[in-house]
Amino acid sequence: MSLRRRTLLILGDSGVGKTSLMNQYVHKKFSQQYKATIGADFVTKELQIDEFFLTWDTAGQERFQSLGVAFYRGADCCDLVYDVNVMRSFDTLDNWHEEFLKQANPPDPSSFPFILLGNKIDIDGGNSRVVSEKKAREWCAAKGNIPYFETSAKEDHNVDAAFLSIARTAMANE
Ligand code: GDP
Ligand code: MG
Repeated sequence: MSLRRRTLLILGDSGVGKTSLMNQYVHKKFSQQYKATIGADFVTKELQIDEFFLTWDTAGQERFQSLGVAFYRGADCCDLVYDVNVMRSFDTLDNWHEEFLKQANPPDPSSFPFILLGNKIDIDGGNSRVVSEKKAREWCAAKGNIPYFETSAKEDHNVDAAFLSIARTAMANE
């Protein structure tokens, strides 16, 4: 059986936890230290899941428009991430979603495999969150029922479940 490579693009504002989620999923590690992604930070991993190899790419947003259309067009699925404690990171989701669809231009945008992660739910025991789960789910419903997971890269909460969900959706979408 031949293994097919799939690419996951992780998008969202700087600092929401994109790199941390990936490191938690791939290496089971978390670091509090923040190294902002400079330009196009490609972190590429090959994982064996259900006999398929998946390749995950994560890009910092700082320069990502300069990556051009080819970068987006290579994506088989797209993971949108915001920080439940930062309203702005939720407000910019529309832009990320639109920009992806514009650039990637998938044949059937309504069935393209997206997933939304509300990250950092551990902070302050949830007392500093400013985006409710309800509000996030409404956004997902409005975008064509995008699956939603609340995660903590720090505490490894829902990280495996979220990545497996998007992987399965991407595989089913062929
Ligand atoms: P990126 O710019 O989206 O790649 O964000 P990073 O993964 O670099 O994370 C930015 C900062 O947030 C780092 O200091 C991380 O340690 C921290 N961070 C990421 N995820 C979580 C989380 O789930 N909980 C907490 N408390 N901090 C997190
Ligand atoms: Mg990063």
